[in-house]
Order: sequence, then structure tokens, then C-alpha cells
Amino acid sequence: MPEAREYDVIVVGAGPAGLMASREAAEEGASTLLLERENSLGRKPCGEAVSVSTLEDAGVKGKRFIRNRVEVFRVHAPDEKKYVDILSRKLGTAGYVIEKGLFLRELAYLAVKRGVEMKMGSAVLDLKRAEGWWEVLVKQGAERRKLRGRIVIGCDGVNSVVAGKALGVRKPEVIPCFQYRMVNCGVEDPHTLEVYLGREVAPGGYVWFFPKDGGEANVGIGVRGAPAKPYLDRFLSSHPELFSRAGVVEVGAAPVPVGGEVEKVVGEGVMVCGDAGGQVIPLTGGGIHSSVVAGKVAGEVAGKAVEGGAGLEEYPRRYEEWSNRISRSLKVLRLIEKLSDKELNQLADLLTGQDVVDLANGTNLKRVGRKLLRHPHFALRLARELLGG
Ligand SMILES: Cc1cc2nc3c(=O)[nH]c(=O)nc-3n(C[C@H](O)[C@H](O)[C@H](O)COP(=O)(O)OP(=O)(O)OC[C@H]3O[C@@H](n4cnc5c(N)ncnc54)[C@H](O)[C@@H]3O)c2cc1C
Repeated sequence: MPEAREYDVIVVGAGPAGLMASREAAEEGASTLLLERENSLGRKPCGEAVSVSTLEDAGVKGKRFIRNRVEVFRVHAPDEKKYVDILSRKLGTAGYVIEKGLFLRELAYLAVKRGVEMKMGSAVLDLKRAEGWWEVLVKQGAERRKLRGRIVIGCDGVNSVVAGKALGVRKPEVIPCFQYRMVNCGVEDPHTLEVYLGREVAPGGYVWFFPKDGGEANVGIGVRGAPAKPYLDRFLSSHPELFSRAGVVEVGAAPVPVGGEVEKVVGEGVMVCGDAGGQVIPLTGGGIHSSVVAGKVAGEVAGKAVEGGAGLEEYPRRYEEWSNRISRSLKVLRLIEKLSDKELNQLADLLTGQDVVDLANGTNLKRVGRKLLRHPHFALRLARELLGG
């Protein structure tokens, strides 16, 4: 094997977290290598819904990757007679459905422009500590190479090699997801994104219908304890108004970590970010924003640390607000999981769009708790728990 090349920072995985982490580390002047197992970016299926603030935090401008502007986010109760609308204009914010592959290429452009050396088709197989360095074993085609990094940032997704081998963290709790990209859907209002709840529709999860422009849509499902595809196919058959003339052009499946942050995101010369660190909002399964921010902070901390700045512990400290959000959202998920379809139908009568946003994001839980306290049934089932934390 040739002599190992040395880098200040080696980032594993070129998803949202890794592209941000590598850019920030390079920005601080660190020699930075980004390794990606796949031969192209954005292979994993995704609903592709993001908030405006995600793009702001990612520091990307321009409309190239925006496929749709979101005005309404509609959450259907299990009986599909009621729904709660979350209106962008009321929240004073907005969202988009993006073309994630193009978005990631934009992030890659910014990273490479800052000096990141990016290697596709490079799967990290193993890593171990040696004389103050991380020795990283990489498979590139038929070849195996050893590289050395002062700091490794694992942004290698839900089955992270870095989290397992370098931090010894357990595999996260996941929800398996399955998604169709569809064309010629019967979209009534392309600016309304819809999710459908209920044990009959998607036990332990939900169905999402996220339209893009021109009748295209991401139609997916997350389900626990049962195979996802039959549930999604059943949903398609029961909504002929949307799908009777539509066709599937892409099929994908991937797990989403919904059990909260892993027990440890930093160790000696190593950090994990994004799905690798369980940094996903558990109730929604949304992880692009939380991964972008984690990568941004970890990359900057790594870049500064190689120059003799603060230690890597600075990363979880600066990420604390997101960590709290994730753990509060997990708490709400655990409560909602216990509710029956009948209770979810009732809840749809009580909650406003703002309440649903707060529950999903784990923000202002006490306010929602106080509101539910007025309802005898939910006072017992939900309010006390929400008020407790
Ligand atoms: C079906 C589905 C729908 C979703 N919809 C949404 C949504 O609408 N909005 C939202 O905000 N979030 C959504 N998410 C979640 C979101 O996709 C993730 O949380 C986000 O992509 C996490 O970013 P990441 O960079 O941490 O990991 P990933 O995007 O998973 O990227 C990890 C990268 O690491 C690479 N890699 C893995 N192992 C290795 C290795 N050993 N060596 C080198 N490279 C490696 C992978 O190939 C991949 O490119 C969805 C997820 C799924 C599965």
C-alpha cells in the first residue's frame, strides 16, 4: 500500500452535513478531504421539503434547485374529514420543495471552491487511532488506500461507520421509509404539501404528498412494524383523484433515525453530524436543516481546532439548542405514538397550525400543554407531560 496521505480534516459522506462540514473546515484554512461512497450525489430518496432558513443556514442563493414554493402544510387526521393547515404567511416564514441532487451539487461547488478535495466512489471501511492521527481505510474501485487525518468528521448517514468504529455508539432507532417519485399527479394546489396520519394509513408513521411543479410529486411513507410498500400502494389506490392518471418514475427506500441524538457526538479527534449522530427532528423525520447546521458548526470547530483553537467539545455546546429541540420533539413523538386514531381525530379539532409546528419542532411545548389542559381527556393524556418539560 502506498504511503498514507495526510490531511488536517477528513470528512466522511457528502450529504448535507458532510458538504457543510468540509466547506467550513476548509474555510478555516484546514487541508480537508471529503470522501463519498457513491459515484453521484443525492442517491438517497428524500421528500425534498425544506424551510427557507435551511437555505439561509446553508449559505446558498439562487433558484436553480427550487421546484416549488410551499404556502400550506396540511396535516390530515386519520378520518380524513379534518385537517390542520399550517400557513406559511401566518408563520411569517416559508418553505420549498427542492431538487436535492442540484442542491447538494451547489453545496459541493461551494466546498470545492473553498479548497476541499472531494473524492467520489470512496467508501470508508474502517478507521483506527494511531499516534495522534486517525488512520482511515478507504475502498476506491478495486483499490484500498490508507489516509491519515488529524480530525475525522463522520457525516456518513444512518449506518455510520465513523459513529460505530470511532465512537462506539449503538445503531440508532429508525423508521423505514419508502418513496415514489411520480409524474402527472392530479395536483389541485401545487403549493400545498400534505401529510396523512393514522394506523390504517401508516402505522407508526405517516404518508407524505409533496408536489413539485408540473404535476410531479414525491409520495412517500414511513411505517413501523410492517412493510411500507403495501401501505403506500393502498394509499395510492384510495386516492384516485391524485393518482389515477399518474405514473411512478423513481422508487427508493431508506431508513430515517427517529430515536433522537446518539449518546455521544464527539470523541478524541472525531465528531459525527447529521443522520450519523441521530440529528433528525423525530416527529417529522426532517433532517436536512439539523444536518446542515451540525455540519456547519462541526466543520468550523474542526478547522479552528487544528489551528490550536478550542477543543472539539465546542461542537455539542454550540449545537445545544438543536439538541434540545430534537429531544423535546422525541418526547412529543413518544406521546403521539400512544394515541389512537380516534384521539388523533379529536386533536385535529383542538390544534392550530402553530400548535402542530410547535409540537413537531419541540418548541413552546408548555403553551400547547396549557391549551390541552382545558380538555379533560387530553389534560391527562398529553398536557401534563408537555407541561413537565
Ligand atoms: C425517504 C426520506 C424522505 C426524507 N424527506 C425529508 C424531507 O422532506 N425534508 C428533510 O428535511 N429531511 C428529509 N429526510 C431526512 C434527510 O434526508 C436526512 O436527515 C439528511 O439527508 C441527513 O443528511 P446527512 O448528510 O446527515 O446524511 P445523508 O444525506 O444520509 O448523507 C450521508 C452520505 O454519506 C455517504 N456514506 C455513507 N457511508 C459511507 C462510507 N462508509 N464512506 C463514504 N461515504 C459514505 C452516503 O452515500 C451519503 O451520501 C428524508 C429521509 C428519507 C429517507
